[in-house]
Parts: sequence; structure tokens; C-alpha cells
Amino acid sequence: MTCCFGDTLILATHNEGKVEEMRALLASRGIAVKSAADFGVEAPEETETTFVGNARLKAHHVASQTGLPALADDSGMEVEALGGAPGVFTADWAETSAGRDFLHAMTKTWDLLKATAGGPPYRARFCCTLVLAFPDGRDEVFEAHVDGDLVWPLRGELGHGYDPMFVPEGQSRTFAEMSAAEKNAISHRARAFEQFAAKCFT
Ligand code: IMP
Repeated sequence: MTCCFGDTLILATHNEGKVEEMRALLASRGIAVKSAADFGVEAPEETETTFVGNARLKAHHVASQTGLPALADDSGMEVEALGGAPGVFTADWAETSAGRDFLHAMTKTWDLLKATAGGPPYRARFCCTLVLAFPDGRDEVFEAHVDGDLVWPLRGELGHGYDPMFVPEGQSRTFAEMSAAEKNAISHRARAFEQFAAKCFT
């Protein structure tokens, strides 16, 4: 197998849940996967207003600091009845004075939904943008999403983030009730990875 970026790839994320999923998605590719933390590179502030803007910012930050190709993921959830919120602010909705708390974020999402005029089903989508950045400033962008419904009460203990409230289209279980392999067969991140792999591995 040949690859468009050599034999080492740095994952430009400090989110452990994402690093685990990305490692699993790259496991069969025979490349060394490292994380930005392995190189002591700190996460930049996400100052852009789009998924692609923030993914570019993170990927180029790590590629320029390490001199190696870096892959960044920027992702989030868009809720139809909330006009696409939280979108790029998905992680921010989990912020509390005691750190990130996704039960807090999911409760906030559900409370806002209950206050809207329409009832269920509450349509939502997870979006994922991957950017592969090279130290010379070039980059490649891959984007995908998965549609589904938000449910309450929360179900499942697996996964991360908003997984316990998201049932992907055509499924009866939430992402948090699926094994990593089951989620990785259908998720927004897996779909973006398919595009990345088609372009980069031959
Ligand atoms: P960011 O891309 O680091 O800004 O964070 C995106 C946020 O979206 C994460 O912190 C999660 O809360 C949420 N998110 C992204 N992908 C998933 C997923 O696969 N399951 C659940 N939550 C996710």
C-alpha cells in the first residue's frame, strides 16, 4: 500500500474520544499514528466559524510545529429545530466551571428542544470535516455527515460526547449503545475517513 503522506501521521486533536476512533479507523493501514500531545503541541484556540475553518487551523498548527503531515477533525452536531445549533459550538455547550460535562450539554439541548413549537422527531446530524495539512502549507479537505434523531432519556454508556442521545437514521440504538466497530461502520467520521482513504491510500 502506498500513501500520500509517508509512514507517520499526527492526529491534530486533544480529544481522547476522537483520537481513539481515528486510531481504530487507521489501524489496518500500516502507518504510525501519533497524537499532537506526543509532540507536546498544545491545541490552538478554535477561532473560526465553520467546521472547515477550525479543522484547517488545527491541522496547519500541528503540521507547522512538527514538520510532519497532520490530520485534524472538526466536528459537531446540527439540530434542525434549533436552526443548526450547536454546530461549531458543540464542544462549547459542554463547558462548565468544572470542565467539560456532556450530560450538561445534552440536557441543555433537550431543554431547548422541548421549548420549541414542534414535537419529535427531533432531526439532527453529526458533521465531520477532516483536513490533512502538509508542512509546506498545502492541504486536503474531506467532509461527511450522518443524519438521525435525538432521543430522551439518554441511552448507552459507550462512545463519547452526545452519543447517548443520537439515533442514526435506519437504526434503533443510539451511538452510545453501539460497539466502536458498529459506530465506525456508519458514523460521520468514518464516512469522512473513507474519502480520506480513497484519496490517500492506493
Ligand atoms: P471539536 O471538533 O473539537 O470542536 O468538538 C466537536 C464536539 O462535537 C465534540 O466535543 C463532541 O461533543 C461532539 N461530537 C463530535 N463527534 C461526535 C461523535 O461522534 N459523537 C458524539 N459527539 C460528537
